[in-house]
Amino acid sequence: LIKPYRWQRVLLKVSGEALAGDHTENIDPKITMAIAREVASVTKLGVEVAIVVGGGNIFRGASWAGCSGLDRSSADYIGMLATVMNAIFLQATMESIGIPTRVQTAFRMSEVAEPYIRRRAVRHLEKGRVVIFAAGTGNPFFTTDTAAALRCAEINAEVVLKATNVDGVYDADPRHNPNARLLETVRYHEVTRRDLSVMDMTAITLCQENNIPVVVFNLQKPGNIAKAIVGEKVGTFIGC
Ligand code: UDP
Repeated sequence: LIKPYRWQRVLLKVSGEALAGDHTENIDPKITMAIAREVASVTKLGVEVAIVVGGGNIFRGASWAGCSGLDRSSADYIGMLATVMNAIFLQATMESIGIPTRVQTAFRMSEVAEPYIRRRAVRHLEKGRVVIFAAGTGNPFFTTDTAAALRCAEINAEVVLKATNVDGVYDADPRHNPNARLLETVRYHEVTRRDLSVMDMTAITLCQENNIPVVVFNLQKPGNIAKAIVGEKVGTFIGC
């Protein structure tokens, strides 16, 4: 019996933190390989996968702004460059197991990757290639979560799948409150009203305005990425 897959085209957001896992270095190759294998298992079924990678495992603009005269915009450009490093690492891992993958950057680095061209990205997806979007939105003062929401809307993907190191969205901080409950579904306005730490406000608002559901799930549990991509119940579902 073939399971009816819910999503045809997804936007997977992988944060830098998730790429690092518990590894002492910035990237855990076991995690990039796990992502590659799970993505491979679903692209074989015909689901189109685009990925936005974060850069927080290497550099976060906001934490460095002000140090030694570093202004926020310059710090954020360094952060965006960090996402390119992660993207190239992930691409190499994907290609090592035979997944055709293209990296597109939000600002030009043509010796390294393609520039972001929406129609070209869509064409790659239609041909079964995985597209990794790097350098966030290309603008300082934004985050890669916002880039995920933006690219998702632009390429007409159906959902943002946010891979994190936690099981989903809780009604309280589980690190401080032993009674914190994992929520199965949450409405957008609850996320903003209760200030649930899921994604930044700009990102969640962009999802809400464009009716893009968000699934928050734990990347460290084997099988979860593939489950999320094919639309099986995993983590927390955010919608209207
Ligand atoms: N960044 C930016 N504009 C963007 C996306 C990212 O300036 O559109 C910078 C920002 O400095 C951010 C860093 O890149 O701190 C890394 O991205 P992010 O913190 O979103 O990565 P994640 O938390 O997902 O690892």
